[in-house]
Amino acid sequence: MQDLLREDMAANARVISGAAAAVTQQLLGVSVKITGIEVVPFEVPVDRFGLGEPLPGHKVVQTLTRVLTDDGVEGGYLGGHFHGDQDGLLPGDQALITRLVGPLLAGRDPFDREYIWQQLWLSKLPENVVSVIDLALWDLAGRATGLPVHKLLGGARDRVKAYASGVNSLGQPEDYAAHAAECQARGYRAYKIHNAIYWDPGTRQFAPARPSHIDWDIQTCRAVRAAVGDQMTLMYDPWETYNTYAEALQVGRELERLGFYWYEHPMPEYRVDSYVRLAQDLTIPICAPEIAEGGLFTRAEWILRRASDISRIDVLRGGITGAMKTAALCEAFGVRCELHMSGFGNLQVLGATSEDVCEYYERGLVGPGLDYDATPPYLRAPSDPLSSDGFVSIPQGPGLGYELRWDYIDQHRLPAAEVEPVAPLHPR
Ligand SMILES: [Mg+2]
Repeated sequence: MQDLLREDMAANARVISGAAAAVTQQLLGVSVKITGIEVVPFEVPVDRFGLGEPLPGHKVVQTLTRVLTDDGVEGGYLGGHFHGDQDGLLPGDQALITRLVGPLLAGRDPFDREYIWQQLWLSKLPENVVSVIDLALWDLAGRATGLPVHKLLGGARDRVKAYASGVNSLGQPEDYAAHAAECQARGYRAYKIHNAIYWDPGTRQFAPARPSHIDWDIQTCRAVRAAVGDQMTLMYDPWETYNTYAEALQVGRELERLGFYWYEHPMPEYRVDSYVRLAQDLTIPICAPEIAEGGLFTRAEWILRRASDISRIDVLRGGITGAMKTAALCEAFGVRCELHMSGFGNLQVLGATSEDVCEYYERGLVGPGLDYDATPPYLRAPSDPLSSDGFVSIPQGPGLGYELRWDYIDQHRLPAAEVEPVAPLHPR
């Protein structure tokens, strides 16, 4: 009788659409199965900034990666390439997901996130591909239960301090100073400088062969500090354009004099010993690694070598699962773990971590002539509105917290990527 009742309830559960059915089936022990993964590419106009000038009307391909199930409940993630969740997956990564990862995960329970994370990480797939799947699975779990992801992880806060993360190659030192002051007036209490990267601020020309402009960079930091005074927290990120330890040390000493809060990712991150020396020789905290491959595991090695004072991770280097593991690692060693980049996924991690572990949200990139506050046309609301006192709220909607405008996505949809995926070395 009990079996009949159970079957009857399970049958009823299957006809209830969407989230409620997924939860009911989980409670009944009838697992939901992944049926496939779809990547939806679509075109979006965005304002960008490059080489000292705003680039309005730039077009990018955004992607929505959807994990579909036999139950009807689904999860998705926007983005997967470049900054935050604003740029879609490249064609090769799209093909990897739809043609290799989708069939690999078909039939799996989408709530088995840890099993899937381990399997994909060990498969040597690109980190951003593993991450996008993990993010979509967390979104699915949130939408199935009606909870934002940070509540599933264990909520810690509902808003987070934000810093304005400026565009690189913004202009002359006085241009940086004016922009920092503008951000301060807007409500930001912290500002991060990205220096001139592959651009000569004197000639305003592309300069790939000579990325270091130490004198310009020091003048820029001085001008910004003078413009905003001592009350604004300042960070500096030359994005590994310093080719020598001596250059990094010289700028770091100036940052100490100017009272900057951290010094981020100044040198190429494959030269770890240079970082060990720099962290020893400077008192300003070094924040790194940012882009080094290996996610959680590389950060562990850097902590053990004392190669930086603040660690760094984001949700495209192991997903929410990887970011939370990294935050726990850092907490155990008493090292802060600063989240790299903006977006819904990083905000959910911040909502589930203490300010003592992950202090700031990186809002941006922001720059002169760019309307960062505009809602992207495929969303009903932006991810990270700024409060007048310099905070960003953690999105409280189900899953990652985004709401899609399917009418826009359908009207601007592009053909699926016609690219043969390059199989990883060890597909299992
Ligand atoms: Mg950085």
